[in-house]
Amino acid sequence: MSRPGRHRFEVPPTAGLPLRLADLAWPRGAADADLGAALAQFIGVEAVQIECSGTAALTVALTALQRLAPERTEVVVPAYTCPLVALAVARCGLQLRLCDLMPEALDLDTGHLARLCHARTLAVMPTHLGGRVVDVTGPQACARAVGAWTIEDAAQALGARTGAGAAAVSVGTRADIGFFSLAAGKGLSIFEGGALLVRDAALREACRAASAKVAPRHIGWELRRSAELLGYALFYRRGGLGLVYGRPLRQALRRGDLVAAAGDDFARPYPLHRPGRWRQAVGVKALARLPDFLAEGNTRAAQRRVRLAGIPGLQVLTDSVAVPGADGTWPVLMVLMPTAAQRDAALQALWGAGLGVSLPFVQSLPDYPQYADVVPSAAPQTLPNARSLASRVLAVSNSPWLEDERFEEILRVLAAR
Ligand SMILES: *Cc1c(COP(=O)(O)O)cnc(C)c1O
Repeated sequence: MSRPGRHRFEVPPTAGLPLRLADLAWPRGAADADLGAALAQFIGVEAVQIECSGTAALTVALTALQRLAPERTEVVVPAYTCPLVALAVARCGLQLRLCDLMPEALDLDTGHLARLCHARTLAVMPTHLGGRVVDVTGPQACARAVGAWTIEDAAQALGARTGAGAAAVSVGTRADIGFFSLAAGKGLSIFEGGALLVRDAALREACRAASAKVAPRHIGWELRRSAELLGYALFYRRGGLGLVYGRPLRQALRRGDLVAAAGDDFARPYPLHRPGRWRQAVGVKALARLPDFLAEGNTRAAQRRVRLAGIPGLQVLTDSVAVPGADGTWPVLMVLMPTAAQRDAALQALWGAGLGVSLPFVQSLPDYPQYADVVPSAAPQTLPNARSLASRVLAVSNSPWLEDERFEEILRVLAAR
């Protein structure tokens, strides 16, 4: 029997918006290259500050907050999140504190969070992982009780909204600060980029000042990112991903390097610089197609969620039950298997098969040996929910290039575990 997925087009691990060649045209006027203004309109806020990555946006935000409250030195994040968050906190000279999640959910465990928050807490970071809307109100109450700020990590959730009808607002707008990633494969992409939203006008000014200081122009980095964006436009298409994504993925899996396979092997130090006009103009043009792309993804996910959840024992992670009117985006469908052994068996069959099945992150933050210098250690029995989720979750791509018959193949493998 042939292995699933062989000799067909490689499906990307998330539903990134493909670029068109017309997106690559040089901007004619200032408005063509003002990605901040275009995103502010899309998100529904006054202003959006464009940074060179989501991590850079977080770095800028933390730098600004630190200046306002130098006695506050701790940042509380979910124990299962992107290791770049830990790198940003460390780069600012701050201490990371890990909060557990609610059982089989992505919401911060507010009981645990309340115990972690105190007079030295600078910020708390509810995280809308994989497009799922999590509760911000509860974490915000914990933060406010000790005078700390709340930062929504919406890196993977551009376009996610909460609230009904005309009252609907974007994620990232309810806390003091929110940020989105514009990295490759995270929805809208300028290869690497970030969008920072700041609610209060004075704090927004402080973030602008911090950005001018920590993220100066850098022609070398901008040239490199421009070349990478060109490569992304050329290869992020049906039939183009085998070479640039599939091959290195299978090489990493053969070496047993799961961290590299999941793309969790981040280069240090990450760059901090100003994104240039051309890349912003590419983002402005692509953004015009994002609403339709997200809506199609939503429809596809709604059908596929039902199929996945129909397999006994499987759960699909949904938007938080604590958020009324939550309407997340679906870059992936995050599936929880009953046991870690079943998850691992499913991954063995599917990761590397070209079907777009992967891991959001390989493990919870304290369990990466390579980030032990920036993450506090955690005893084995601690952070039980985040660790259980990390060991039982897998991500099924919601890319339009995963056709129905190949999705059925994934279902068959998952049902057989
Ligand atoms: C990707 C990601 C980040 C960092 O964004 P970059 O643009 O890649 O720097 C932060 N948080 C989460 C949850 C992410 O997935």
